[in-house]
Amino acid sequence: MFDLAQIRNDFPILSREVHGQPLVYFDNAATSQKPTAVIKSISDYYDSYNSNVHRGVHTLSGEATDAYEGARGQIGRWFGITDPGEVILLRGATEALNLVANTIAGELKHGDVILVGETEHHANIVPWQQLESRLGVRVVPIPVDRTGMLDLESAKMLCAKHPVAVIAIGHVSNAIGALNDVEGFIALANENKAFSVIDGAQAAPHMLVNVKNLQADFYAMSAHKCCGPTGIGALFARRELLERLPPWQGGGDMIDRVSFSGTTYNELPWKFEAGTPNIADTIGFSAALQYLESIDFVAATAHESQVHKYLVDSMLSRNTVDVLGNPEQWVSVCSFNVKGSHPTDVGTLLDQLGIAVRTGHHCAMPTMEYFGLPGTVRASIAFYNSVEEVDLFLDALDRVTRMLAH
Ligand code: PMP
Repeated sequence: MFDLAQIRNDFPILSREVHGQPLVYFDNAATSQKPTAVIKSISDYYDSYNSNVHRGVHTLSGEATDAYEGARGQIGRWFGITDPGEVILLRGATEALNLVANTIAGELKHGDVILVGETEHHANIVPWQQLESRLGVRVVPIPVDRTGMLDLESAKMLCAKHPVAVIAIGHVSNAIGALNDVEGFIALANENKAFSVIDGAQAAPHMLVNVKNLQADFYAMSAHKCCGPTGIGALFARRELLERLPPWQGGGDMIDRVSFSGTTYNELPWKFEAGTPNIADTIGFSAALQYLESIDFVAATAHESQVHKYLVDSMLSRNTVDVLGNPEQWVSVCSFNVKGSHPTDVGTLLDQLGIAVRTGHHCAMPTMEYFGLPGTVRASIAFYNSVEEVDLFLDALDRVTRMLAH
């Protein structure tokens, strides 16, 4: 049974006030809040067994290594992966996507086309653009439709016209919340012998993702949007692919032997993890997934979908706001503008009433350009949010709308 009151107690921050009002935290797409279990797992590490991992002969190093590598195994299993060599731990989705672009660069040739969703976060656009001048490849956007979905049929036409070597798309767009047809895009990439690269940053917090079943070449995500700490995330990729690709960064841990006559590299996954890893936050990341498991994540996401639907339906029925997109499958986000008002003014006034939302371009400037907007106000729901909070938000929004009209 999903007990919302109990779940909210697990998140100390949810009971604080902002400007004398109860906090309504609707900025989950930027980062989620953290339950006590995650905070405690990190302080336990520093309190009891803080030490560097790998190669240590002393007890603390052994304990830290076991916890770090145990966390990797658990993180992989959550995403349907049993081979820890296919789980690269790094700073988050941004670093994961940069790693992919930089390591597959050697497999691309002059004139190749990289298809990138028009609604991508900048983290899934800019690393590809950086290859353009270096390699003579070309980034071509996959068009978005008015509902906010990436158009698979247009992508098929682009594949028929160009030598497409990479298809890079978001599983869920962060500015709109559209759940894209990832299976369709991955199949299209496979048919064209192109790499499929999926940015799962906004999907992983809201649904169980089995990366093995998806059969994407690369899947990137960040822990901090899934109740875990910031500065840690994962890249999942097939072993044979990772074995073929060169390491990206050089340093400790990623080597087998170093000599001025030639250096050899470590096995997977460490070949892609140069330097001291983020041990504490990897432990916190794993604790976050264990927490999600403990609360019945599927029930939690079902509750979240109901709250999100209530929010979206209420917003669509208001003639004072314009909602961005209207995708068939819509996850967590409601991006909107109050008619005649600037998003920053709306967000700032909502904050005065205790409501935390994000305003601006949401690191998705091409999305804003397509819809002809400078930015939006974005409310985004997590499983710990309630229908009552949506009501508080709607009341506050109506007040703000009236204030801005005068
Ligand atoms: N992709 C998407 C869709 C995102 O929403 C974000 C975070 N806003 C990122 C990538 C980047 O993730 P991170 O900041 O954790 O590297």
